[in-house]
Amino acid sequence: MPEPVARRAVIALGSNLGQRHETLDSAVAALSELSQITVQAVSPVHETVAVSLDGPDPERPRFANAVAVVTTTLTPEQLLAQLQRTEREHHRVRHERWGDRTLDLDLIDYEGETRASTALTIPHPRAAERAFVLEPWADIEPEAVLAGTPIRQLLEKLRAQSPEETR
Ligand code: AMP
Repeated sequence: MPEPVARRAVIALGSNLGQRHETLDSAVAALSELSQITVQAVSPVHETVAVSLDGPDPERPRFANAVAVVTTTLTPEQLLAQLQRTEREHHRVRHERWGDRTLDLDLIDYEGETRASTALTIPHPRAAERAFVLEPWADIEPEAVLAGTPIRQLLEKLRAQSPEETR
């Protein structure tokens, strides 16, 4: 049997409830324990304002956000299932979309592959507008490209549009 090929994936992590930094560390540790995932790089943690449907919401607890670049022999679907398992293990409780959460894990990119179902859309459809994804990602992969556009360029556009959301 040939060895399965390891593919590169980008995962965004966020937490705005409980021991946020510890939760992010613990989520990265849980993923790196799996034989099918090798964590290549983890960004520094960024403190960001919560974003609700209407935009930034300073009344809600602030998020700790980070990005991890991994290589994995899992398919995108298997990797998402693993991310959801890790969320559950961290006692994530979902009250509402865009709500507060102990741990949120999003699959941002999987070697540029595309999927477009409700269960899995990659590249992540809102990543290009989210400074809290792009900034930590740029810390570890400044030359990265998302859906054909350099993330540096996406960040410049975001900063020009809404400087307060990039803090
Ligand atoms: P949320 O927790 O608000 O990020 O949304 C999770 C839901 O989005 C789950 O039902 C996932 O199946 C779905 N989903 C679709 N694409 C993605 C993706 N790229 N990363 C994470 N969740 C996704």
